[in-house]
Amino acid sequence: MKSLDTPNHKPLITRNLHTHQWYCLHADGTVDDFCRYAQKINMTMIGMSDHVPMPHDPVDDDRMSMEQLDDYSTAIDQAKLDYPDLIVLKGMECEALSAFYQYYRDELLIKREFDYLACAIHYVDVNGTRLNLFEDSLDVKGLRAFVDHFVNALEADLFTFMVHPDLFGFTYPNWDANVEACVRDMMQAAVAYDMPLEINSKGFRRPQIQTNNGMRYRYPWFQYWEVAAEYNIRVLINTDAHRPSELDATVAEARALKDRYGLREISDEAILARMCELAQRNRVSVKPGSTRSDVSKKTRGVCV
Ligand SMILES: [Zn+2]
Ligand SMILES: [Zn+2]
Repeated sequence: MKSLDTPNHKPLITRNLHTHQWYCLHADGTVDDFCRYAQKINMTMIGMSDHVPMPHDPVDDDRMSMEQLDDYSTAIDQAKLDYPDLIVLKGMECEALSAFYQYYRDELLIKREFDYLACAIHYVDVNGTRLNLFEDSLDVKGLRAFVDHFVNALEADLFTFMVHPDLFGFTYPNWDANVEACVRDMMQAAVAYDMPLEINSKGFRRPQIQTNNGMRYRYPWFQYWEVAAEYNIRVLINTDAHRPSELDATVAEARALKDRYGLREISDEAILARMCELAQRNRVSVKPGSTRSDVSKKTRGVCV
């Protein structure tokens, strides 16, 4: 096995809520490997957020099977015990496909007591056709569909934060009036629902693309964040780590972007409180007889 040794240093990042383990078949490292590395670099909070398994419709090959859900969940429960000095959270990166929202709520938040769900828009459905944001080029209709998926996800009241909310920049190269209108619509919704938005530092580890306006990262898309900064939103920096050593990768770039536009970062306390509120709202709402303390007892982790 590869050594996870690194020099002890003050961490560039103390919290990372976007990490992927071996289950998705395109990441390396067990839950334990991630926790060990996090402890080594003096992080204080780590969330596991591997790609959610999908019942009935697998969507793609980049995720664990339903049969692995138990193992994933148990591994995180074990890590919570093994790393008492680290806040270890049980999460999933979920697709913004509304047909699965009931499943996320019933299976993950209620039955398995996940601490949080993060929401990604990797796919948009446009007139019955599913477009892949990493592969299919988007036209204006596709852009609008991205906004619709975004707003639906916020309305669902399931997700603690949105990951790479500027991912449409992957295949929509040039900034124009349509993009700006879409970003403003997303920001209004983010403010209305007080939804934290992720600055995803993985984009800084990908090659740049050519646009009308010169080279840029596919995401984070700087112009997106410049417009976002006009709104009263909160952001969080995550590295979308697909191996333990990426837990603190390209953080300086993400932080520079945040500082450049004066974006407001959500605190550890505030994001934990948000997780707890969401968990309680979702659990209570299906059990009309539950009291607040019944619910707290059930929520090992963020609510105790
Ligand atoms: Zn991935
Ligand atoms: Zn991810």
